[in-house]
Amino acid sequence: MRIARVSLGEQVSLVSVEGEPGEEIAVPIDGQAGARGERHRLADVVLLPPVQPSKIVAVGRNYAEHAAELGSTLAERPRIFLKPPSSLIARGQPIRYPAESQEVHHEAELAIIIGRECRRASVEDALTYVLGYTCANDVTARDIQRAEGLPSYAKSFDTFCPLGPWLTTNLDPTALHITCTVNGELRQNGNTRDMLWDVRQLIVHISAAMTLLPDDVILTGTPAGVGPIKPGDEVAVTIEGIGTLSNSVVQDHH
Ligand code: ZN
Repeated sequence: MRIARVSLGEQVSLVSVEGEPGEEIAVPIDGQAGARGERHRLADVVLLPPVQPSKIVAVGRNYAEHAAELGSTLAERPRIFLKPPSSLIARGQPIRYPAESQEVHHEAELAIIIGRECRRASVEDALTYVLGYTCANDVTARDIQRAEGLPSYAKSFDTFCPLGPWLTTNLDPTALHITCTVNGELRQNGNTRDMLWDVRQLIVHISAAMTLLPDDVILTGTPAGVGPIKPGDEVAVTIEGIGTLSNSVVQDHH
């Protein structure tokens, strides 16, 4: 099942997304206030980020080839950092390029959406906390990250966490093709089977430190091929079994 959060007039509704790419229909999920049972072409409604998380937890260097391209050694444990929920945008909303950076990069990532409160998950039960999966772009001001030696500020600008277009339930995350294109040109071409720490291990590790709440998001790291985006670009993250998260890039005139 594909579940999207959409804005229908004044109302925010959860809808089931049905149909083929480009011709999707948004079908209100039973019990949603304001949905009134109306069906809409997905193209006619405004997509919102699929969840409103209390936190976005991310992992660095989770693909060996990406660690190598950054000149980083492989970490002996997952490198965890946080992105603020204020960085979230939906498919179709622009990434605003900040004046503080001259080198903003795309990072295509599989995102885990947590479905129920999770504290100290075990490898055996880790996947029972997952509601679904979606596409993410862990947008990064690489020059700032390099200058600081820390990821948080460089990855926390407003609009630096495109997420969506919807969440997909009942998906096996272990071997999903993941790509990123910029203006239609292939930049990243990876597979989630190459993660150094897989979905179960990440949930175990992260939930040992912090309680994960429903709708919390875990970004699972990016495969090789990260590179610059600039105002005027169109960047798209596609994950097998989920769909495509596309966003334009605009200069941030603050
Ligand atoms: Zn990342």
